[in-house]
Amino acid sequence: MNDLSPDDDFEHARLLLAHDESHAFDAVVPPIAQTSLFTFGSFQEMEETYLGRRVRPTYTRGLNPTVRFFEEKLAGLEGTEDAMGFASGMGAISSTVLAFVEPGDRIVAVRHVYPDAYRLFEILLRRLKVEVTYVDGLDHDAVAKALPGARLFYMESPTSWVMDAHDVGALAGLARDHGVMTVIDNSWATPVFQKPAQLGVDLVIHSASKYLGGHSDVVAGVVAGTRASIATIRAHTYPYLGAKLSPFDAWLLARGLRTLPLRMRAHEADALLVARHLLAHEAVESVQHPGLGNALPPGLTGTSGLFSFTFREGVDVARFADALELFKLGVSWGGHESLCVPGRVVLSQNQGPNSGHAFGISPRSVRLHVGLEGAGALTADLDAAIGAATL
Ligand SMILES: *Cc1c(COP(=O)(O)O)cnc(C)c1O
Repeated sequence: MNDLSPDDDFEHARLLLAHDESHAFDAVVPPIAQTSLFTFGSFQEMEETYLGRRVRPTYTRGLNPTVRFFEEKLAGLEGTEDAMGFASGMGAISSTVLAFVEPGDRIVAVRHVYPDAYRLFEILLRRLKVEVTYVDGLDHDAVAKALPGARLFYMESPTSWVMDAHDVGALAGLARDHGVMTVIDNSWATPVFQKPAQLGVDLVIHSASKYLGGHSDVVAGVVAGTRASIATIRAHTYPYLGAKLSPFDAWLLARGLRTLPLRMRAHEADALLVARHLLAHEAVESVQHPGLGNALPPGLTGTSGLFSFTFREGVDVARFADALELFKLGVSWGGHESLCVPGRVVLSQNQGPNSGHAFGISPRSVRLHVGLEGAGALTADLDAAIGAATL
């Protein structure tokens, strides 16, 4: 059967290199177009591409087949017309916001957004004369009052640390009534549990470093939305903002996406078991997990592995952290491994306009990411560490 001639070899090699051939050799995994540039066959082809009459890759900052493969997969999952990959979640957030705001604009953001998004608003946007107002996304009257005249409504649901879970469809509806464009950070829920575009949100952002990648081996971001809005963001990113996703990272993300639904169901089940265990623990004052209280807000169909809890007085958080064995001390989340961030550490770092109190963090709070090790082992690890740290 293997009777390929040198000519066939050449033909296969040509197919593998062709930018529109993502499944060369019928490979189940697409090849990585690990290249910075793409050459042209003729002056005419080059000129037509420059004039925009022909769409084909020229330079990887603009268009790369492997990156495109991931972008199309993600747009499919979010149910949007298009998507664009970025070198980080913050690259996606900053490029998206900067593509739409002008000096004199005001944006409205839900309180307790991801701390580095808050820093983008408080440091760079203020310098560009863009005003930012924060609202409690659970208070729809306050949101409706803040929206008139705003350029953009920035949402994150559930929010970092405090885990406010919003009625995303209702908030998007309020914004639409006031002609305000909506953006949401959907990293926590992923399209498996929340599809904001189908709830009326204009642009959906992910830190792909978290669940989309899922293996803690890539830093990346993505924004999904209509063809027109992604084209606007692309028009700023390609020429000069430039925080574009790289081919290898796109390939890792496409690999991660294949197991996303499976991983999310495991994170959900085990995090709920761990959260309920903590809620029943005498050393724990409260647990901030959207799946513990009342019904989930409309549109949120499941919960993930990231939540926080607050100790009662009498537990030494530093000793607790040092006594953990399975839970590693580390930032980020969304991978296979379980992680712990003590609120005290975050508070000691954040000063001035970055005050940790702005994010609703208490010195007795702890953020956990429940990975894939199994809930039994993880609750045993927490119990032992709490025992070692109770004064
Ligand atoms: C990590 C994170 C980001 C930033 O993403 P990076 O990929 O680290 O730049 C944004 N939003 C949320 C909710 C995050 O957890």
